[in-house]
Amino acid sequence: MFFHLAMIVSAFVIALTSYQPVQARANNFTLKPVRVGDNLLSILRQHGFSEKERQEVLAQDQSLRHLYLTLDTRYLVRTAKGETEIVMFDSQTADAYRIFKRGSRVVANKYDPKFKTTTVRIEGRIYGSLMGSILPKLNSNFVASRFMDAYAFELRAQKSLQRGAHFWFTVEKKYLGPHFIKYGEVLQTSLDIGGERLQKRFVRHKGGGVFFNEQDLLDEKPFYAPVDYLKIASQFQPNRRHPITRRVQPHLGVDFELPTGEPVYAPRTGRVVRYGHNRAAGNYIVLLHSNGMETSYNHLRKIDRHIRVGLQIKAGEHIAEVGCTGYCTRPHLHFAVKKKGRMVDPLNYIKAYPVHFERMLESRVATN
Ligand SMILES: [Zn+2]
Repeated sequence: MFFHLAMIVSAFVIALTSYQPVQARANNFTLKPVRVGDNLLSILRQHGFSEKERQEVLAQDQSLRHLYLTLDTRYLVRTAKGETEIVMFDSQTADAYRIFKRGSRVVANKYDPKFKTTTVRIEGRIYGSLMGSILPKLNSNFVASRFMDAYAFELRAQKSLQRGAHFWFTVEKKYLGPHFIKYGEVLQTSLDIGGERLQKRFVRHKGGGVFFNEQDLLDEKPFYAPVDYLKIASQFQPNRRHPITRRVQPHLGVDFELPTGEPVYAPRTGRVVRYGHNRAAGNYIVLLHSNGMETSYNHLRKIDRHIRVGLQIKAGEHIAEVGCTGYCTRPHLHFAVKKKGRMVDPLNYIKAYPVHFERMLESRVATN
């Protein structure tokens, strides 16, 4: 018992001393941008970590293998007296890692950065593409695509924006000491579509959140969203061509980018028609709903143990976890909808939020 307690205390002390310096001495660090082609190992190599030391870093924390760096992200480096310290921040999650080297001794651990968050307002007009109009204002693909997520449903139906259409949004900026590390969530948004000014705000809930306005509650689409956070990595594209081979490679669902382990919910009452594993889809489930439509879920890390063929599933029931099984390079949920034997664009059939957000969203509207 005593031994156990001592272990906990020493673990706590190590944790404390290992993250404290980064906060306190943020001024001693130099901010570096992630460049094209960079990943964890190439960055370590650039800062003098040998092959053996790089493998040691990976061995110390398995989750480092999943560190996701985009060109939006920056990292911190400090070198002094034979010591190198690198602090890296995952682009998609709040995860951060401190990697330390002195001589040939290497230490790597996860830590919880205490970001200071500010908000900035971006405003402009649309000339050409939405993406092309936003990027010159803040140079972040992540932020531009989050803004587009806010209007994914409307833009899907409308397709074209009027030239000169006005937009604005606010977005979080995360700082550590004097250093701007990365953007956070897009919060308030406004976009003129078809001569109408539409506004949406990000509402956080249950570890996720959705872009929302009152109109969304009147939506009569047959399905709820199957996830708590709708970040669209790839749209439904029946005529998609491979950029090099030019072969038609249709994408018959929508990809929601989420970290591994995030919950997947049934979007409507239904029955399990199939589930299992195949080479392309990885772990998958197919549900048949009372309206005759089928929904499917691919690349799952885990299918819930209670899932059986013929089982009745309620709307909002947890059925699986997001993963990256099958043909997959980044964890995401491939979600597809089949109507009368044909694959259709899921965004035309799902609401902007999962079923268990509904009451919370209704109460938000009531108190406004
Ligand atoms: Zn997909």
